[in-house]
Amino acid sequence: MNVSSIAVDESVSAVFPPEQLRDALTDAVDVAIIDAGVDSVEPYDAVVTMAYHESYLEGVDWIHSIQAGVDRFPFDELRKHGVLLTNSSGIHGPAVGETVAGYMLSFARRLLPAVKSQTQREWSPPAWDDAYTLADERCCIVGLGTLGRGIVDRATALGLDVVGVRRSGDPLDGVRTVYTSDDLHTAIRDAKFVVLAIPLVDETHHLMTTEEFAAMRDDAILINVARGPVVDQAALVDALEAGALGGAALDVFEAEPLPEESPLWELEEVLITPHCAGFTEDYYRNVADLVRENLAHIDADEDLVNRIV
Ligand code: NAD
Repeated sequence: MNVSSIAVDESVSAVFPPEQLRDALTDAVDVAIIDAGVDSVEPYDAVVTMAYHESYLEGVDWIHSIQAGVDRFPFDELRKHGVLLTNSSGIHGPAVGETVAGYMLSFARRLLPAVKSQTQREWSPPAWDDAYTLADERCCIVGLGTLGRGIVDRATALGLDVVGVRRSGDPLDGVRTVYTSDDLHTAIRDAKFVVLAIPLVDETHHLMTTEEFAAMRDDAILINVARGPVVDQAALVDALEAGALGGAALDVFEAEPLPEESPLWELEEVLITPHCAGFTEDYYRNVADLVRENLAHIDADEDLVNRIV
């Protein structure tokens, strides 16, 4: 494969200005910004993108996703057309780790109700026994990849008792007990915080539904920074409304943007962020570093890093 020109799909503007990425790559390769819904990708050898467009199949040899999650890409079609796919796994640990720490602190230190009261100009201190500290609270992190490890580091620094779930069950520094996926219910049963940090694949679709919410403590907080469909959202609303869960911090949703009529907007103990847990001003630089690294591998005829297809 020879890559002498790269298109930056306008869709990356959901996360950073495309011009920033273009300028960060121009010394390495010819780069142009395109609107793939309108422009042809054919003159380019590769595309860096957030969205997927069918025109990529005939147009380019290599697609780089600026996200870690690649659930929107049709793996079989890409294989059939000989198009390589790489993702941006590995860059989101610190940002998402800090966002999750922020969620947990917002619940424990009652910052969530304080901010809601502030918007109503209400002076409304929490009940004497409502606030708590995170030290020794149990946090169960489901998925111990880049995101999971970024969360483990922050959670252990805050003194939480961290357990985790990963398919192998292999131990990991900072995690007191690692359960296998088969032991999910045991892992989540005693946790105050259950954090989802796994990819969306067939086996993780609606991983968390009525049975899992019933298995959790009724004061537990569910945190989803993975992908919306990992959670059965209707079942989550039911569990929250019935008091079967204590609350939720959600960055991702089954439909995005979250529709205005969603009951989640109105629920008191729900913290909503608009799929930005991984945002940082360094995002485009981190993506540029990955693309450069793979350009070097292509020149050396070596395997690509973060190759998915
Ligand atoms: P990663 O590839 O580094 O790690 C994913 C981990 O999950 C791997 O260790 C994998 O073995 C494990 N896993 C897969 N299926 C599992 C299962 N059934 N049970 C337990 N573990 C399982 O990816 P990452 O960078 O950590 O990202 C994980 C996912 O989080 C992405 O696929 C993406 O959908 C999402 N994400 C969201 C944001 C955001 O802004 N909210 C940012 C980055 C990633």
